[in-house]
Amino acid sequence: MTDTHSHLNDERFSEDLAEVIERAFAEGVRRINVVGYSVESSERAVEIAEAYHGVFAVVGLHPYEAERYTPSSLRSLERLLDHPKVVAVGEIGLDYYRGPEDRESQKRLFREQIEIALRNSLPVVLHVRDAFQDVVEIVGGFPEGKFLFHSFSGSPDDMDVILTHENWYVSFSGMITFLENVRKAAEKAPRDRTVVETDAPYLAPVPKRGKRNEPAFVKYTLRELARVWGVGVVEAEGMTDGNAESFFRYGE
Ligand SMILES: [Zn+2]
Repeated sequence: MTDTHSHLNDERFSEDLAEVIERAFAEGVRRINVVGYSVESSERAVEIAEAYHGVFAVVGLHPYEAERYTPSSLRSLERLLDHPKVVAVGEIGLDYYRGPEDRESQKRLFREQIEIALRNSLPVVLHVRDAFQDVVEIVGGFPEGKFLFHSFSGSPDDMDVILTHENWYVSFSGMITFLENVRKAAEKAPRDRTVVETDAPYLAPVPKRGKRNEPAFVKYTLRELARVWGVGVVEAEGMTDGNAESFFRYGE
């Protein structure tokens, strides 16, 4: 299994990080991505990736940073991209639910980071909240890029849009275990471009809802995806692991 999106850089893991990672590998997780959302959390993601075999970093500035970032934040970010354990730029995107009200500043930060990713031949992990149309419009302007819609929570119609672009991937989190519209969308998800994640410490799946989420729990999301697809868990695992390998820049 591959947990393509966790925030082990969150302070909620500062006490027992090593145990959390150990539990995940004991459950059969092979790779864990730690995802940044600011310069500091991205640097921390790289630090954690350096310390553990099988752990990788995704670095980027979340839309929450849109009114705070400076040219120097982007330079600090770009400096991290040469690191062999950095496997994508993210999570970046648009958040019209909780992000800064100035949508233009969000779009500017988003576009600048897509350009940085492409300049460094890296794929992009997308954060999308109440902004699917605008994200599609911006990302559609970069046909040479590879994009992953993280923690997909859109409609089956949104999934149709993703299906029409062969470089667009989709990732399911624990939401698939408790939201019917996400299950419906997953039925249509492209079998060769779908991966799974926890988004830990958030979004714990059934039967762990309400608890701190952790990479070991990605198995519940994988099981539900396998059920929705009507395939065995081992088969779904092989498919999603293979898709993660073709999307991220894993060097090992
Ligand atoms: Zn996240």
